[in-house]
Amino acid sequence: MAEPNVLIIGGGMAGLTAALELARFEVRSNVVESSPFAGGQAIGFSCKATSACVRCGACLAEDRLQSAVESPEIRILPSSRLLELSRSNGPFSAVVLRSPRVVDPDLCTGCGRCVDVCPEEAVRRAPSPYNRPPLAVDLDRCARFAGGDCTACVDACPESALAFDRGEERLALEPHALILASGFHVFDPREKPYGYGEMEDVITNLELERMLREKGGLVRPSDGSPPGRIAFIQCVGSRDERLGHLWCSRVCCGSAPRTARRLRFLEPELDVTVFYIDIQTFGRDFESAWNELRREFRFIRAVPADAVPTENRRVRLSYFDPETGSPDSLDVDLLVLSVGITPGRDLAGTSALLGLRRGADGFVEAGDSGNPPAGVTAPGTVLGPMGILDAVKSGKASAWRTLENLGMV
Ligand SMILES: Cc1cc2nc3c(=O)[nH]c(=O)nc-3n(C[C@H](O)[C@H](O)[C@H](O)COP(=O)(O)OP(=O)(O)OC[C@H]3O[C@@H](n4cnc5c(N)ncnc54)[C@H](O)[C@@H]3O)c2cc1C
Repeated sequence: MAEPNVLIIGGGMAGLTAALELARFEVRSNVVESSPFAGGQAIGFSCKATSACVRCGACLAEDRLQSAVESPEIRILPSSRLLELSRSNGPFSAVVLRSPRVVDPDLCTGCGRCVDVCPEEAVRRAPSPYNRPPLAVDLDRCARFAGGDCTACVDACPESALAFDRGEERLALEPHALILASGFHVFDPREKPYGYGEMEDVITNLELERMLREKGGLVRPSDGSPPGRIAFIQCVGSRDERLGHLWCSRVCCGSAPRTARRLRFLEPELDVTVFYIDIQTFGRDFESAWNELRREFRFIRAVPADAVPTENRRVRLSYFDPETGSPDSLDVDLLVLSVGITPGRDLAGTSALLGLRRGADGFVEAGDSGNPPAGVTAPGTVLGPMGILDAVKSGKASAWRTLENLGMV
């Protein structure tokens, strides 16, 4: 067999971990990443440490990305997707399509002058210093790709790193194995009655993560002021029979209190309320940890009916208070919706291309029940909701199954 190589679809925690594990055995991999920046959802998370580390996993994401970028065995292909796949005897034949690369990763220094001048706010900064290139143009927003003749970013770049004449590229690859690690999407809360998309101060937990990472603290998007009182609504889009999303997202019960503690650490006077259905977490010290949390924050076991704007530009939540047995309301400066983990939007197409079966919930079926064709594995959140550590473990397991298939272990 020619030197084995593996095609990995998705450069998140599961995909990068699989690539790193394969690299330990000198197996090369191409990591096809649809977004301009590898690292998956977790690369945009902020560290939740208070006076000590709380093991949120955010630094693990940074560590995986750095190791993958520095590994000579791993080639990350940002803004790319698998277009065609076939197999007769021997390796697969794959065609990968790369979107036009406006920013040259070898020339860009990340100075950000292009970001400042773009009238469409189409130039985005990478979430991590290890992303290459450090900046990327969102082709869906860029006026140039909509037929316009704007050259503001190109003109502003002192390194001549931006150019519009680099077209799409098609790469023909012959991988010996494939790993589908294309991850998840979060539930879009627009269809819930909480004013998301209408009130600026209603954000998702994912947006909160990004804000904490980029700004280092919490502000109201509407006016940039620090909020005095915030609320989280848990399980938005999960455990919801009407949506057919009966699963638990598994990360929000841990993530919301960790984030709340970090926010309180930054702003000791912050008033935090958490609306929840029940707490889906466990472990030896669950009882004491839960009691401690209830002393720190206000927990209300209720699903608010709706959220509406008040005259003084706050957000009013109406709910039924289980303790008093009567309707009540709470005005907050910022509302955070803990949106659930759902199957990736293009998972149906990609899993079909690879011959992987999905369950009724839309996630890929795990292990042999997913009926993977020889040489194909699927780790991480394509299998269902899981946290960073589990995605890492799953990526490692996928790499080991791949090495077995290649006869290398
Ligand atoms: C709000 C929120 C908070 C969380 N907080 C925590 C926490 O505190 N601790 C914790 O352990 N976990 C947390 N998680 C879970 C964590 O995000 C996941 O465990 C982790 O991101 C899973 O990694 P993954 O590689 O499976 O998927 P992803 O992170 O989704 O990565 C998949 C990658 O594949 C790419 N991709 C998608 N489709 C394609 C395609 N067709 N072709 C090529 N590339 C593709 C995506 O762009 C992405 O880069 C949180 C999740 C959310 C939503």
